[in-house]
Amino acid sequence: MKFGTKAIHAGQEPDPTTGAVMTPIYQTSTYWQKSPGDHKGYEYSRGTNPTRKALEDCFAALENARFGLAFSSGMAATDAVMKLFKAGDEVITGNDLYGGSYRMFTKIFANYGIKFHFIDLSDPEVIREHLNDNTKLIWIETPTNPTMKIVDIEAVAAIAKANNVLLAVDNTFASPYLQTPIDLGADIVMHSATKYLGGHSDVVMGALMLNDEELYQRLWFIYNSCGATPGPQDSFLVLRGLKTLHLRMKAHCENGRAIAEFLKSNPKVDKIYWPGFEDHPNHEVAKKQMRDFGGMISFSLKGADLAATFQLASSFKVFSLAESLGGVESLINHPASMTHASIPKEIREAAGVTDSLLRLSVGVEDIEDLLEDIKQAIGA
Ligand SMILES: *Cc1c(COP(=O)(O)O)cnc(C)c1O
Repeated sequence: MKFGTKAIHAGQEPDPTTGAVMTPIYQTSTYWQKSPGDHKGYEYSRGTNPTRKALEDCFAALENARFGLAFSSGMAATDAVMKLFKAGDEVITGNDLYGGSYRMFTKIFANYGIKFHFIDLSDPEVIREHLNDNTKLIWIETPTNPTMKIVDIEAVAAIAKANNVLLAVDNTFASPYLQTPIDLGADIVMHSATKYLGGHSDVVMGALMLNDEELYQRLWFIYNSCGATPGPQDSFLVLRGLKTLHLRMKAHCENGRAIAEFLKSNPKVDKIYWPGFEDHPNHEVAKKQMRDFGGMISFSLKGADLAATFQLASSFKVFSLAESLGGVESLINHPASMTHASIPKEIREAAGVTDSLLRLSVGVEDIEDLLEDIKQAIGA
């Protein structure tokens, strides 16, 4: 099946009791058993729920994976992956991660004795210098947030395989419409489904997708034991959101391209980050592993200090100043003080997250209104 058909149908059959075409919200914590152990595969909703199951099967199908797991947030999904490891294990990851992932790795799991190496992954060969017998996982994000660096998933997967290390990819920014890391050799895909998968800024959720059955069983054990699983209402909302993922992504990409090109040609703009530009340092890799370039763009204006940048961030009328991304509505964010505030200033600035940087999550509104809004805000 093709992507759009899977987005609408995967995991979903007419409801066996009523024929309802849309998967019902099974708002129940527990399930009747005829005699102990004689049930229809559902015992208790922390571990299994039919609405969530339909969503998880759809998640798996979209990432070309065998298994999907839904979590109550993206961070809960990441947390479950990290719980596969123990004190003494080592993880190699990027130096410009999502701020919440960096915070979890350094402030939570480092305390449990897991060692993290934060490195620049633009040249995957550098990974080899940090591998040792304790390395268990490589965790990457691509495109990175917010400077839109591209990591070569296939190249990292080859290094991971050769060294018997797992590769997990945070695929939140690309969505499976643009990039399917499992096809490129990744073992686990993670999503903040809060973003493009849900798509309407009305639910917080996370997901893991993977192929290996033994790994799936270990992750399901963590999922059921630790219990960060979403309820049926939220599962329904994301299942519904997924039905238009392909339509939304197409519009995000079209609007994203128009805005990226407008900003690039504007003399007031200093830095601009978008992987679709031919002069983006890893454009060739982006072209190889992504089907289009998405609607996430970061930029700064020439000579803008913190005050001027705050002023600019507050002067948009259609773009809302807010954290998060991937919804139908356009958002603007100031990473240094908002999404990336938990990263120390020196580390943040070394990764390009300066005080003057602004990040756009380009929505699916009419492009004329979005361009008009940017023009009035930057005074173009
Ligand atoms: C938002 C986000 C997360 C965290 O997900 P939540 O759903 O907010 O817990 C992780 N990675 C990336 C790239 C994100 O944008």
